[in-house]
Amino acid sequence: MTKFVEIIRIIEENCTNCHQCIAVCPIKICNNGSGDVVKFNNSLCIGCGRCVDACLKSHGGVVEKSARFIIDDGPQFLNDLPQKEIVALIAPSAASNFNISKLITALKQLNIKHVYDVSLGAEITVALYHQAIKNERVILPLISSPCPTIVKYIQLIHPRLIEHLAPFGSPVHNLAVYVKSLHPEAELVFFSPCLEKTREIRTQKLIKYNVLYQSLHNILEDKSINLDILPDGEFDNIVPAGIATNFSIPGGLKESYLYHYPDTPASSISRVEGSLVFDGYLRSLQKSIRKGDSHLPLIVDILSCEKGCNAGVGCINKSIREIEYVVATRSEQSISDQNVNTQLDLFLADIINTHDFKVKDYDYLSYLYQVKIPDDNELENIYISMLKLEEKDFRNCAACGYSSCHYMAVAIYNDLNKVQNCHLYQEKELRREQQAIQNMHMELTSVFNAMSDGLIVLDKEGRVSQSNLAAQTITGYADEAIIGIHILDLFSKKAPYTIKLLETGESYKDREMIIDGVRGKIHGTASGEPRFDENNQITGATIIVRPIARVKDLVNKISGAQASFTFDSIIGEDENLKHSIRLAMIASSINSTVLLQAASGTGKEVFAQAIHNGSSRKNGPFVAINCAAIPRELVGSELFGYVEGAFTGARRGGRPGKFELANKGTLFLDEIGDMPLEQQVVLLRAIQEKAILRVGGDSQINVDVRIIAASNQDLLELVKTGRFRDDLYYRLNVVSISIPALKERSEDIKLLFEYFLKEMSPRFNKRITGIDENVIKCLQSYDWPGNIRELQNVVERTLLIAVDGCITVDCLPREVVRSTATISRDSIAGNIRDFSAIPSSLSTRSIRKLQVGEQEKEAIVSTLDIYGGNVSKTAAKLGMSRNTLYRKMKSYDINN
Ligand code: SF4
Ligand code: SF4
Ligand code: SF4
Repeated sequence: MTKFVEIIRIIEENCTNCHQCIAVCPIKICNNGSGDVVKFNNSLCIGCGRCVDACLKSHGGVVEKSARFIIDDGPQFLNDLPQKEIVALIAPSAASNFNISKLITALKQLNIKHVYDVSLGAEITVALYHQAIKNERVILPLISSPCPTIVKYIQLIHPRLIEHLAPFGSPVHNLAVYVKSLHPEAELVFFSPCLEKTREIRTQKLIKYNVLYQSLHNILEDKSINLDILPDGEFDNIVPAGIATNFSIPGGLKESYLYHYPDTPASSISRVEGSLVFDGYLRSLQKSIRKGDSHLPLIVDILSCEKGCNAGVGCINKSIREIEYVVATRSEQSISDQNVNTQLDLFLADIINTHDFKVKDYDYLSYLYQVKIPDDNELENIYISMLKLEEKDFRNCAACGYSSCHYMAVAIYNDLNKVQNCHLYQEKELRREQQAIQNMHMELTSVFNAMSDGLIVLDKEGRVSQSNLAAQTITGYADEAIIGIHILDLFSKKAPYTIKLLETGESYKDREMIIDGVRGKIHGTASGEPRFDENNQITGATIIVRPIARVKDLVNKISGAQASFTFDSIIGEDENLKHSIRLAMIASSINSTVLLQAASGTGKEVFAQAIHNGSSRKNGPFVAINCAAIPRELVGSELFGYVEGAFTGARRGGRPGKFELANKGTLFLDEIGDMPLEQQVVLLRAIQEKAILRVGGDSQINVDVRIIAASNQDLLELVKTGRFRDDLYYRLNVVSISIPALKERSEDIKLLFEYFLKEMSPRFNKRITGIDENVIKCLQSYDWPGNIRELQNVVERTLLIAVDGCITVDCLPREVVRSTATISRDSIAGNIRDFSAIPSSLSTRSIRKLQVGEQEKEAIVSTLDIYGGNVSKTAAKLGMSRNTLYRKMKSYDINN
């Protein structure tokens, strides 16, 4: 395979895949755009140099940034200059790039021995063409060969025209034949505008170096040779060139031929230049020749570059106006001296007969130019992959570098490009991606706005760049108003965790802070996460804020701080009870503190919950605390919460107390009589100031809490004995309600017994079909020290051991039965069944467990009753710790 000299260097990392090189290339398939950058096939390149110019242009004319560069023999020439005898040949186009006379002097300063004008070679070329046509030694039409790019193009694409190519060399070749005969030992250098000349001279082996004007310019600059200050020099030709000094412009050959052979009709010489034209021209010429067209030209004067060699890729000056002026002036001067013309004619007549200007046969290169053409189906599939689905998708916009979508499809079929490089494909993909991003954005926005937590996006300076609806609701700022606010201004000048996060990227969770909202300060918690860019640099942060009130709300909901009892839950017809209910109902309609005085087990919490649920606070939390059940030292932190570091073991970030958790709701303080005196002071202050101070804290937190206190002790008695503060007592005792003990409402016992039976029987999977009337008598005779709670326990036990759905006296505990004076003890005793009489459906182990459990439960309940619900005393009496007692009370469902 023919190996071609490399004439273009590609720096792939500079390639932007702009496809300009493909767009301007006459041999599109010599470029491969199927990768990330456009690569290039040297064998198919015709050296027109257009891609080099286009690439430079696409990089704003900055040579260093360009991806395509010319390779010429400049470095080799410079290297050989000191050691070799070198003779220079200067192309006609040099006149528009340098001052030729001064250039000759400069070249001599470079140690070049002789300098010749290639225009003389052009004169030889014209004479050779004429002689060959006259002697019919060529096949007409004769296609001129000065342009090596056209020659290779014909070899690659139009092999049928090869026989029409002039069998003589180009002007530089012809001059080289002559000069070599004068200086056989010298090496020849050609200073030219043309990239492809390097390949031509390598093939013909007469000239050693092809140095483009740009390289020559750089060499002169490096050698500090300034043409402007040099004297004029003269070519070493014995005979100066005539009209053919214009050979570099389009139609120069035609003009020269007509000048020398005026009998030739001008219409018999075609003038063609530029890649937009020459392919079409050659195609139609080939067709006309095949058809034997009678209007075929005699000579085709054809050049690849649009403005002839003066616009070649190696030129420095590409100003058309200047070029035309310089070339025309020079050729006018050349033909003005008739004497010179005569000398030239004599020279030409001699030389064309004494030297051999023939070139070796042109190679056929069409085997290199192989393009597979897809069939209709394949083409259709390529179009589908290019997302060309309707007529308007065939834009033929040439953005891919090809003049039509069809051509691009063929390139894709030949693996010379890829669908992703189609402009329309990119546009459609972009639209699809945009739509996907938009959908994702909408989804995220709806998630963003559906969040109940406030979400604030900060830039890296800590300014708000986005916020969701919840954040706007919490802060009170409208969407635009919050943008740009600094986190320090939003967080009341205290945002140490967020500032640290922005500096170090350290995230934080559930830190308390104060938001400076539009409507005032909001106590809240914040969590923050940093955002990073691809280089792991912090670009900002995302902050989630929650008002404490909402956090507490949530805690209350999850931890069950909700009241479930209403006034309907209070069962009884007793007049005293009804009076208490009426008072409680009144209390629910106002916001005053309530004091419930009653024995244990009478249902103080049921009353408290009913008051709460009947009040305007019913949607707020109901938080209950048993003051007797908390160790003295913890009462403060339980009630008022604490801040981080308040004491050893305090939780990170602190903890809110029951007061805060009950904000906007009701706080039920059971067994208030057991509250330590020192905490009574704090409680009084909290009630009066409607604000609390967390243990260890220094800022007050406003709370809006309704207090319902309860005691089974006589608080007034405690006041008298100094165990309860009188000021607190009077503060609490705004609405005082006493709840009658069960023994005081014996008529309600039957009602309650039946009510609890009905309520609990599903739990025990029992259906009660009958109650022995003695049972009710027994119950009514008993004095119920444990009140309703004890009655509930009795019902539970009764259900457990009742057989066949029938409740008899046997099912009752001994103490209830024993207390009955009105019933014959014998008749009852005979019927009292032991626990061993429990239904056989229970296993022995279960029975034993139940027996033990039942006995223990009874012991706890009765001891609690004895000590008025005092847990510490009960635990001490039963020989267990308070914690164990609490655990057991919970497992036996004992409400104190
Ligand atoms: S020099 Fe011409 S033929 Fe070669 S790749 Fe560039 S544009 Fe194509
Ligand atoms: S012109 Fe060609 S080589 Fe130059 S940057 Fe564009 S695609 Fe790359
Ligand atoms: S629409 Fe695509 S394939 Fe067609 S010419 Fe433009 S870029 Fe090339």
